Amino acid sequence: METSLKIPVGISLCLLGERVRYDGGHKLSRVCTELLGRHFDYRPFCPEVAAGLGVPRPPIHLVASDRGLRALGVGGRDFTRALLDYADSVTEQVRQLSGFILMERSPSCGLVSTPRHGSAGGAAGEPGAGLFAGRLREHFPDLPMEEAGRLRDPDIRERFIERVSAYHSRFR
Ligand code: SF4
Repeated sequence: METSLKIPVGISLCLLGERVRYDGGHKLSRVCTELLGRHFDYRPFCPEVAAGLGVPRPPIHLVASDRGLRALGVGGRDFTRALLDYADSVTEQVRQLSGFILMERSPSCGLVSTPRHGSAGGAAGEPGAGLFAGRLREHFPDLPMEEAGRLRDPDIRERFIERVSAYHSRFR
């Protein structure tokens, strides 16, 4: 399909093979680039790099605290505001999209699988969204979003293509 006919879809940048992860690596997803790439024109986002965290960088974790969910780095450095502000700053770009594919388990990009930690360490509660993905969900509750790992399943993948196509036909 020609790029101009493909549907614009956001994606976590590391899934395209860019070395932007905290450890200097990437998470290239051939399901995204080769299978879904036939349908989608990707618009990449890396909230952690955009929020000023370098590459490589110490990992951050989501911590459930009495001040709500916080993204904390080494020594308790708090990146919550930076990640939420970045998500708020890209709403006009995301408004042009008809779907979003996100990297699972990430404290920024995870959609349903990101672990929560207690302030004393250890797991706290059920996994959920990272800060960037969760904020996008608040802004765009109807936008089709999926984690890349789940898109390895052919049924989930097919349904996602249908949802994105339907959203695109409805709103574009
Ligand atoms: S913030 Fe998101 S896009 Fe950036 S490296 Fe982490 S998972 Fe990938």
